Amino acid sequence: MMKFIADRMLGKLVKELRMLGYDTVYFRGKDFHQFIHLVRQEDRIILTRDTKLGARRPQDRILTIMENDPSCQLKEVIQKVCLSLDEEILYTRCLLCNELIEAISLDQAEGKVPDFIFHQQKNFFRCPQCNRIYWQGSHLSNMKKRVKELLHIKSEARNSKFETILNDQISNDQNK
Ligand SMILES: [Zn+2]
Repeated sequence: MMKFIADRMLGKLVKELRMLGYDTVYFRGKDFHQFIHLVRQEDRIILTRDTKLGARRPQDRILTIMENDPSCQLKEVIQKVCLSLDEEILYTRCLLCNELIEAISLDQAEGKVPDFIFHQQKNFFRCPQCNRIYWQGSHLSNMKKRVKELLHIKSEARNSKFETILNDQISNDQNK
């Protein structure tokens, strides 16, 4: 499973990757050494808007996001990297913390979500870090359409001959 680390310019992309279930660190610090340490330690792919970073760090896996429009950046990632859009991991992470959310009982959810939601929904989840509560019928379900569109993009990308340096690097890594 690919893991990512994104720079501060890519907040929307970070949330969308988490929505898809991908472990994605949102790095807003200024300490570049700490950034690189995380990359190495946790074997993360760098997502950046810095077009010069790739040339400076040929040893790291870097995906430079060229798309200015945040609503198109996830599409760019999917087209450039072999991301699998796995239904199993969809909506398993907190969009704010990147933590895996955990199923909680109805008792635990009662009083913590709006009443009409409580009566509508059967399954609730909680982020162990920020305690935010999630449920399937929330805003998340509105994203299903978008995910379907992404799956479509994905199959197009697979059929095209689109290849990137990043993919080459990944296959090189796997051959080592
Ligand atoms: Zn959280």
